[in-house]
Amino acid sequence: TAKRAAQLLSTQNIRSLFDSVEAFLFDCDGVIWKGDKLIDGVSQTLDWLRSKGKKLVFVTNNSLKSRIQYAKKFHSLGISVAEDEIFSSSFAAAMYLKVNNFPQEKKVYVIGGEGILEELQLAGYTGLGGPVGAVVVGIDPSINYYKLQYGTLCIRENPGCLFIATNRDAVGHMTDLQEWPGAGCMVAAMCGSTEREPIVVGKPSTFIMDFLLQKFHINTSKMCMVGDRLDTDILFGQNAGCKTLLVLSGVTTQTTLQDPSNSVQPDYYTSQVSDLLHLLGP
Ligand code: PLP
Ligand code: CA
Repeated sequence: TAKRAAQLLSTQNIRSLFDSVEAFLFDCDGVIWKGDKLIDGVSQTLDWLRSKGKKLVFVTNNSLKSRIQYAKKFHSLGISVAEDEIFSSSFAAAMYLKVNNFPQEKKVYVIGGEGILEELQLAGYTGLGGPVGAVVVGIDPSINYYKLQYGTLCIRENPGCLFIATNRDAVGHMTDLQEWPGAGCMVAAMCGSTEREPIVVGKPSTFIMDFLLQKFHINTSKMCMVGDRLDTDILFGQNAGCKTLLVLSGVTTQTTLQDPSNSVQPDYYTSQVSDLLHLLGP
């Protein structure tokens, strides 16, 4: 059955969305910022949403930073966000091990960035230095053949070794000027050599939702996921039972959204986050 086409957000339909939503879940890259550059009007819009009593949550698939490091990034951009309002795929990877009772004495091999290592450490896990029980793969700007070799050995020689991917995004904004290959290419390399499929903990997996619900006791039907990518953000929102709003300030164009081959349709779409303020605000 054909999915209902996304509605353009307007003064006519925004009220019912706004009134029914208690929490806005924001994807970060393409929605809040592009690389290190804040998107216009975001700061005012977030302040206004908070003043209207809405809960704000930030869900990013970029595993380069930990939650602590993301909180610092928000602050450096002039936005005040608490660490526990941030749900990153680096945090998700550490929580996956924790909720699955992965023993703290086992080692984890990380193909990825500092953010994953910091989250693992906060969850009580050490990287490397003994038999490896899990390989975590995320965006790794220093990826090389020998890292792939080590990860591959860990997984291939031990069928019990977990293979966890923070996310599989095709591209991301390492800078605001252009797109760069995302974790999807590191994960694909490991799939090729290990002949295994990873457990994905970032969007569109709803794994992170349980942690979000522990903090915000809000029914997912009263949440609106705001994102720029159809196959991660919007699918995540739909998988979790949230309302969904696509913004065109990131990777998805209106042409892609309306292409007949696209099967993911958000409930609403609009050009950028600040439209929420402009359509409803003072
Ligand atoms: N992965 C990498 C390496 C990125 O650079 C980005 C965006 O910058 C993403 C993933 C996607 O992040 P988000 O989920 O915040 O859009
Ligand atoms: Ca995004």
